[in-house]
Amino acid sequence: MYYTKTTIGSTTIETEINDESVFTRCPCCGREMRVDLQELFAAGDFDLCGTTILCPACTQKEA
Ligand SMILES: [Zn+2]
Repeated sequence: MYYTKTTIGSTTIETEINDESVFTRCPCCGREMRVDLQELFAAGDFDLCGTTILCPACTQKEA
């Protein structure tokens, strides 16, 4: 498994990365969405820091 590690003061929090613990925000409206990283990696050409995902409502507006 992979996990993220965040240290706050003297406490370190480890959080497993899975399809239920990864979220992103829509860059247009700020809506929080759950993300399946495996699906994104499988799609190829995925940049962890540079990729943004629009929510369904904003995707429709863009189209
Ligand atoms: Zn949106």
